[in-house]
Parts: sequence; structure tokens; C-alpha cells
Amino acid sequence: MTDDHAIAPFSPSQVESINLYQRSGAFHPFTCANRGDSPHRTTTDKGVLVADETGLFCPDCDYEQTWVHGWMADGRWAKMLPDAALRGLEIPDHSAVGGPPKITEESQ
Ligand SMILES: [Zn+2]
Repeated sequence: MTDDHAIAPFSPSQVESINLYQRSGAFHPFTCANRGDSPHRTTTDKGVLVADETGLFCPDCDYEQTWVHGWMADGRWAKMLPDAALRGLEIPDHSAVGGPPKITEESQ
């Protein structure tokens, strides 16, 4: 099995997929390696990392991580879930956004 990683910098859609994954509670999220050493908040787990374009970081210390599994970054994880697990989660549909605004020309 090939090791399928997504490496920072991440695209905005990768960031969105990773953060939804981290918040979903459906799978074990990536957590801070220092979460046992200093106070860390608990969301879906203790010390859950947060993604932005530059990578994943810990909100409670300076821990950083620059990769995730590929299936975490491209929405494949959401397809592994039974529909029931997705209740309350908004999975982005990128095909529906980003089009240019419609321009109506009135030439009379
Ligand atoms: Zn931390």
C-alpha cells in the first residue's frame, strides 16, 4: 500500500476538508504531541490540531505538523462514513461555488 500523504502548503479546499475531519469526531483526529505535558483544550479529543494553509498547528502550544494522510485532505474520509455520521456536518461542495457572477446585458 502506497503511503498517500498531503504535504503543506495546503489549498483552501484541503484546509476545509482537514478541519472538518478534525472536528467530525468520526475518526481519531491528529492531536498535539505535547498534549500530556501542558494544559490543552479538549474538543473532539484533547489537543486537536487545527489546519491552515501552512500546515497543522496546536492552538495551545507551538507544536506544528506539515502533513496529513491524503484521504484526510481531499474529502475521501467523508465518503467512508455512513450517512448518519455526517448529520450536523457540512461537507463543502466545491462544484457549486466559484463561478463568475452572471452579467445580464440590456441592449435595447
Ligand atoms: Zn500542543
